[in-house]
Amino acid sequence: MDRAQPSPPVEKRVDGAVSNPELEREIKQLGGELHGSFPSALRHPVRAVDARAMEMASSDRELRAALFRFVDVVPACRSLDDVARHLTDFLDEVPEAPPPLEAAMRIAHTKAGRAALGAAAARGVRHIAHRFIVGETPRAALSVLSQLWNRGIASSVDLLGEATVTAAEADRYAHRCAAALAELAAAVRGWPERPMLERDATGTLPRANLSVKVSALTPLLRADAPALGKQDAARRLRPLLVGAREQRAHIHIDMESLDSREAVLDLVLELLSEPEFAEGPSAGVVLQAYLRDSPQQLEQILAWTRAHTRTPPLQVRLVKGAYWDHELVQARQQGWPAPVFEVKAECDRNFETLTRRLLEARPAVRVAVASHNLRSVSHAIAYNRLLGAPDTELELQVLRGLGDELQDALAQHGFRVRTYCPVGDLVAGMAYLVRRLLENTSNEAFISEQARNTPLETLLAAP
Ligand SMILES: Cc1cc2nc3c(=O)[nH]c(=O)nc-3n(C[C@H](O)[C@H](O)[C@H](O)COP(=O)(O)OP(=O)(O)OC[C@H]3O[C@@H](n4cnc5c(N)ncnc54)[C@H](O)[C@@H]3O)c2cc1C
Repeated sequence: MDRAQPSPPVEKRVDGAVSNPELEREIKQLGGELHGSFPSALRHPVRAVDARAMEMASSDRELRAALFRFVDVVPACRSLDDVARHLTDFLDEVPEAPPPLEAAMRIAHTKAGRAALGAAAARGVRHIAHRFIVGETPRAALSVLSQLWNRGIASSVDLLGEATVTAAEADRYAHRCAAALAELAAAVRGWPERPMLERDATGTLPRANLSVKVSALTPLLRADAPALGKQDAARRLRPLLVGAREQRAHIHIDMESLDSREAVLDLVLELLSEPEFAEGPSAGVVLQAYLRDSPQQLEQILAWTRAHTRTPPLQVRLVKGAYWDHELVQARQQGWPAPVFEVKAECDRNFETLTRRLLEARPAVRVAVASHNLRSVSHAIAYNRLLGAPDTELELQVLRGLGDELQDALAQHGFRVRTYCPVGDLVAGMAYLVRRLLENTSNEAFISEQARNTPLETLLAAP
C-alpha cells in the first residue's frame, strides 16, 4: 500500500474492464463467505413483507411513481382521512393497480373505510421510515448508536433536513450540528474499546462521526454564483470544524447533486488548507463514481493531499451517487450530454477503478468504500489484500436500513464497517426516504437483483 510498491497486475479487457484471475478468485470467495452470513428472509418476517412491497413497487413504473408522490405528501397531511384521500388519488392514476391495492381503494369510498386505510398507510410510511431513521434527535439515537458500537459497528450521524431556503434555517442546521457533535462526543467516551473501529496505520479514528450537507449550511449555494454560497457556508462550517477538532470528532461532508459539486469540494479543501486545521479535525469528502469525470476529480483530490500533508489524512468516501435520475433529467432538459454513466456496468467498473486508485494512494488518504453491492465491496477487500495491506486499512460503509444484512456480515467477519445513520423527524426525512426508495426499487439496483434471487455467481460477476 505504500506508493513505492508496484500494484498487482490487472489486465485491461477490450471493454475497459480489468481482469486478474487471482483478484477474481478472492472476490468470489469473499463474496460467497459474506453472502453465507446473510440471514434468511424467512427468519425476518417484517423484512420479508418489506421486500414484497418493494418488489411490487419495482415491477410497475406507474405504481412506483404514484407511491413516490404519496410518500412525499404524507408528512404534510393533517389527518388520517387526509392520508387515505391522497393515497386513493395517487393510486387512481395507476392504470392497473395490483389486487391488494384495488381492495384498498374500494374501502376508501366511506369515511370509516378512509380512516382505516389512512391509519394503515400512515403506519406503513412510519414503519418504512423507522427502518432508515434511527431517532428523532441525536439523544434519542444514542441507544441505537451504542448498541451498534457494542456489536462492532461504527456509525456516522446525518441530521436530516436538506436544501435550506433561509439564513435562519441554515443557522438552525449549523446549531443542531454543533449540539449533535457535543452530545455524541460526550456519549462515546463511555463506550467500550473496539480497536478495529478506532485505529488504523495512520492513527486514531474518532468514535464520534457526523455527516454534514453543505446545501443545509447555506441558502445561497448556486451553480451560477459559487463564490457567494461558499463564503456563506464557510461561515457556518468553520466553527463546526473547530468544534470537531476540540471534541476529537470526525466531520464528513456529503456530496449532493452535480450543480453544487465544485463549490462543495472547493469549500472543504480551502478550509482544510488553513493552517488552523493542519492537525485536525479528522475530515472527509465524497467521490461519486457515476460521474464520468470522477477519475479527474479524484486526481484533483490526490493532488491536494500531496500539496497539503495533514494529520490525520483526508478520508475519501467512494460512492456511486444518489442523484442519478435527477442528473439525467436535468441534462436532458438543458440539452447537455449526460454527466453520469447511463449503463450500470460502466458505473460499477468505474467504481472498481477508483477503488483501486484510492487504495494505492494511501497513506495520503484514508479510504471508505460505501456500497451495498456485494461485488463492489468484495472487490475492495480483495484488492486491499492483494496489495498486501491488512483489513484494518480499509473502511466499509453502508446506509442504515438498506445495508443492515451486509453490515452484520462485515462486522461478523471482522471488517471495519460504519453505518450512516439519519436522525430527524419524518417531515425532514421525506426527501431522504424517497431517494432511498427510488434506489431500492430501481430495476438495476444490486438490492433489487438480490431480492429477485439472482444467482450469487451472477451477483459477483465482473461488471
Ligand atoms: C455510507 C453511505 C454514504 C453515502 N453518501 C452519499 C453521498 O454523500 N452522496 C451521494 O450522492 N450518495 C451517497 N450515498 C449513496 C450512494 O451514492 C448510492 O446511491 C447507494 O449506495 C447505492 O449504490 P450501491 O453501490 O449500494 O448499489 P448498486 O445497486 O450497485 O448501485 C446503484 C447505483 O448505481 C448507479 N446507477 C443506477 N442505474 C444506473 C445506470 N443505468 N447507469 C449508470 N449508473 C447507474 C446509481 O448511482 C445508483 O445509486 C451513500 C451511500 C452510503 C452507503
